[in-house]
Amino acid sequence: MKIATRELERLVQQALIDHGVAPANAPIVAATIVAAERDGSRSHGLQRLPGYLSSLKCGWVDGKAEPFVEEVAPGLLKVDARNGFAQIALARASAPLRAMVRRQGTATMTTANSHHFAALWPDVEPFAADGYIVLTMIHSRARIVAWSGSKKVLGTNPMAFGCPRQGKPPVVWDQASSIMSQGDVLLASAAKRQLPPNIGIDAEGRATTDPDAVLQGGALLPFANAKGGSIAFMIEILSAALSGAKFGFEDTSAKIPGAITSNAGQFMLLIDPRRTGGDGFVDRVELLIQHLLAAGTERLPGDHRYAHRAIAEREGIEISESDYNSLQQMKS
Ligand code: NDP
Repeated sequence: MKIATRELERLVQQALIDHGVAPANAPIVAATIVAAERDGSRSHGLQRLPGYLSSLKCGWVDGKAEPFVEEVAPGLLKVDARNGFAQIALARASAPLRAMVRRQGTATMTTANSHHFAALWPDVEPFAADGYIVLTMIHSRARIVAWSGSKKVLGTNPMAFGCPRQGKPPVVWDQASSIMSQGDVLLASAAKRQLPPNIGIDAEGRATTDPDAVLQGGALLPFANAKGGSIAFMIEILSAALSGAKFGFEDTSAKIPGAITSNAGQFMLLIDPRRTGGDGFVDRVELLIQHLLAAGTERLPGDHRYAHRAIAEREGIEISESDYNSLQQMKS
């Protein structure tokens, strides 16, 4: 069935409010979930809502938390999400970040004590659409084995990058440090579909294509072997050590019944390219893209989502009837 974006947002907001999210905060969290569903990022769309609600219901995350935002040095914003959702922390930090990057050309945000359970691109796209270069990273509970290790220490640690284009939507990529995101493993599990080889290991450290073996005590592998492990390490340093957040292996959510989200951190860097590249920056971006397209690149990262979005805006978001019915029943 097809459903209008606003109607889906209304239903998701209501489910969040019913589970203790402050009415002023619910639209911010709902927008991220619905945007993922609208853009075809199904691993982080409606599939994730029961996880948000479960974490709220058991008291692991505080849906009414008011983040504390502090400018600790010129260009450096430190945010304590106070055990709330990362999207609320970013929403509160957004105006000071924009003021900083306008004033001095660059702005950095570190967030601790936050729960990020979503895709990362919704965090960067608005800044890139407004002309800024933006890079963000988050970490999560330990889920990958890296650098020849045999135990999970690092999270699936995604990062997203955005840069503006002239008269076109920004280029935005968003990728996990694991070879496959946990959300896609969950989708495979729900569809009773085997994983491709070399995605994960089981609880005994043996290679497996069974999504449930990966989810129940197993682990994911980093993309590109040691190189993905290095990226996951860097993300853990920037979003946890730098922000004061717990590392993924220190997060206790796995031991708390109902706690699905990780208590972790986020890092964001904004640069105003007009300060170094003048007005020529977007022309240089375009030149690079034209060369890539001429070299056979079929599409840019983000194009897939933009295409999904255009259809959803025209025709509504396609969701299954079972998702629609369970949404109606998601009362606390
Ligand atoms: P994908 O592998 O699906 O995609 C990674 C990026 O590559 C996207 O920007 C995608 O663009 C781009 N891309 C894919 N194929 C092509 C292609 N042929 N040509 C050009 N670009 C391409 O993402 P992941 O599975 O790594 O991650 C999925 C999501 O999981 C992300 O949104 C991430 O933020 C999220 N995540 C969230 C976590 C959390 O704890 N909150 C933890 C880990 C991951 P496009 O979108 O246009 O296809």
